[in-house]
Amino acid sequence: MRKYVIMGIQGSGKGTQAKQLAAEFDLVHIAVGDIYRWHVQYHTKLGAQVRRAMSAGELVDDALTESVVRDRLALHDWNYGFILDGFPRNRRQAQFFMEGYDVDAVIHLDLPDSEVRRRVLARRLCSNCGMDYNLIEHRPVREGRCDACGGELVSREDDTEEALAARLADYHAKTDPALELFRAKELVVSVDATASKPAVQRAIREQLGLPLPTRKSRAS
Ligand code: AMP
Repeated sequence: MRKYVIMGIQGSGKGTQAKQLAAEFDLVHIAVGDIYRWHVQYHTKLGAQVRRAMSAGELVDDALTESVVRDRLALHDWNYGFILDGFPRNRRQAQFFMEGYDVDAVIHLDLPDSEVRRRVLARRLCSNCGMDYNLIEHRPVREGRCDACGGELVSREDDTEEALAARLADYHAKTDPALELFRAKELVVSVDATASKPAVQRAIREQLGLPLPTRKSRAS
């Protein structure tokens, strides 16, 4: 059983790295932002509660977010472990988490704000099938159109300059202190996230003592 938290500013590649670890080690990838985006997309009651905060680039209410995480983990579908992505984001959430759950390590992807800006403002999402693109490193073949379904590519509603500036300020004010709590428990492994995706994945595994990616797993 492996239980990890992955923390890093938007655009640090958390989602990508978490998905790769999850696929390789049979971990359940629990991304709070994805859960919320699903609810907004399908106009659920929860979606209506979180929509405004999300589009303003603000954190959703702590009690609500904690209940979402508690309910998700209570499904106990994580027989080989989980990787929690996007939670905790502040001291209160970190305390809630440490009181109820134990974790093997907190993976911290370290990225300067200037690089965050460059990466995040290049992100695009297919409005039809949800496939992710990035105009820096994963451009669509036809400009503005999804390679898979031809749908229109749009920015995530919370990927505007304004919302990004709010998220960066919020991150440093709130998430840095949460990271400090884990650091005090010697749970944090910090990885330089400016490196390429495979190099970051390698560094994470080296630090966690996990088997390194094979040629086959790198290709997938
Ligand atoms: P992300 O995909 O991680 O960038 O999350 C997208 C949005 O979901 C954030 O900007 C917040 O509005 C909300 N969100 C995600 N995780 C949390 C959390 N741990 N606490 C509060 N709000 C969150």
